[in-house]
Amino acid sequence: MKISERYIALDRTHLWHPYTSTIDPLPVYPVERASGAHIYLEDGKDLIDGMSSWWAAIHGYNVPELNKAAMDQISRMSHIMFGGFTHRPAVELAEILLSVLPQGLDRIFYADSGSVAVEVALKMAIQYQQAKGYSNRNHFATIRSGYHGDTWHAMSVCDPQTGMHSLFGGALTTQYFLPTPPIGYYESWQEESMNPLKDLVRKHGKDIAALILEPIVQGAGGMYFYHPQYLVEAKRICSDAGILLIFDEIATGFGRTGHFWGGDHAGVVPDIMTIGKALTGGYLTLSATITSQFVADTICGGEAGCFMHGPTFMGNPLACAVAVASLQLLLKSPWQERVRAIESQLKEELEPARKLPAVADVRVLGAIGVVQTKEAVDMSKMQKAFVQEGIWVRPFGKLCYLMPPYIIRPEELRKLTSGLLKVIKNCCCG
Ligand SMILES: *Cc1c(COP(=O)(O)O)cnc(C)c1O
Repeated sequence: MKISERYIALDRTHLWHPYTSTIDPLPVYPVERASGAHIYLEDGKDLIDGMSSWWAAIHGYNVPELNKAAMDQISRMSHIMFGGFTHRPAVELAEILLSVLPQGLDRIFYADSGSVAVEVALKMAIQYQQAKGYSNRNHFATIRSGYHGDTWHAMSVCDPQTGMHSLFGGALTTQYFLPTPPIGYYESWQEESMNPLKDLVRKHGKDIAALILEPIVQGAGGMYFYHPQYLVEAKRICSDAGILLIFDEIATGFGRTGHFWGGDHAGVVPDIMTIGKALTGGYLTLSATITSQFVADTICGGEAGCFMHGPTFMGNPLACAVAVASLQLLLKSPWQERVRAIESQLKEELEPARKLPAVADVRVLGAIGVVQTKEAVDMSKMQKAFVQEGIWVRPFGKLCYLMPPYIIRPEELRKLTSGLLKVIKNCCCG
């Protein structure tokens, strides 16, 4: 038996994969290595990466600068507890983050994954409201089609249909759900679309600690792009009502949408912001929740005297060192031009998909291209067809989407778009 066959058998018998049945598992493809925008399978196949490993690998794979940062740091220390210690990577990362964060967001809490950063943001909002004397403000508001992670409270603010509310039902805290912002990114703004938020605030504003949403681009909850004015209005309505505004920038951050942050499309600064995914260029798991000095100091002036959270791997030096290198690399690269070039190529090359009978919509923003089908796709059949085409695309539900590393070359991107169209044509159109 070849080694890879043995691995696949062991994997099938003993491992879980995300959202995959242990009884009837989808196939998994053994990867040997990856470099640039290429993923090399053990059987020798070379796939062009259309996923950036779920928004993370913005510089592609096996990046010399990031490899060096990791190796330099690992030879000093891989980890040290953050309670009572600090270290150069954590502080350097803070310094470079402060240079790109929206004005006024300058207190950084490091955590280990996106979901944890969201939990931290929600806990910050509750502790803030309690410190202000509003102990009734213990609910959250959010918009439908959102995605904020898989941990407990993060899950409760995910879309109630596409998320996991029906499964975990009574065990999940119920939150206030607003409709998905009805006006798309490229449509003309209509003031009435704020009415649901205004009504909610009028009825229940005094119970709400914070409104949490993904600015401009809703990711795993629907790959939808909405109008920037929504954020401008939401900020005003929330701050008038004493409700904190949380932007979950875990997917939208670091240039993916064409601006550095999703919130930059509207020029809106939230009270709390979460970042993750591309923070380390896809090398290691690291996230952060960032707020203002005012919110931080209010929390710490409250009953507890501090913020009540402290993960074991908080501020992990190895992850912070790689994040520093990743941000330096990003900031000295022409990322805006790269993202803009990917955007126009995606617009041009995905447009023909609109004519396919199985396709409901095609949309592009920044380095994100989405083809939405009318019916849910057959994931395992499609995944196989993509691999045969030499591209790595992982659809879900009715959504086939591309979000390649920014360093992808035009001819590599062309292979992705033409492969995507071909597979949709073959798999979904009879
Ligand atoms: C992926 C994601 C999360 C969760 O991050 P994990 O690192 O998977 O825990 C939270 N919010 C948004 C917007 C995301 O895209």
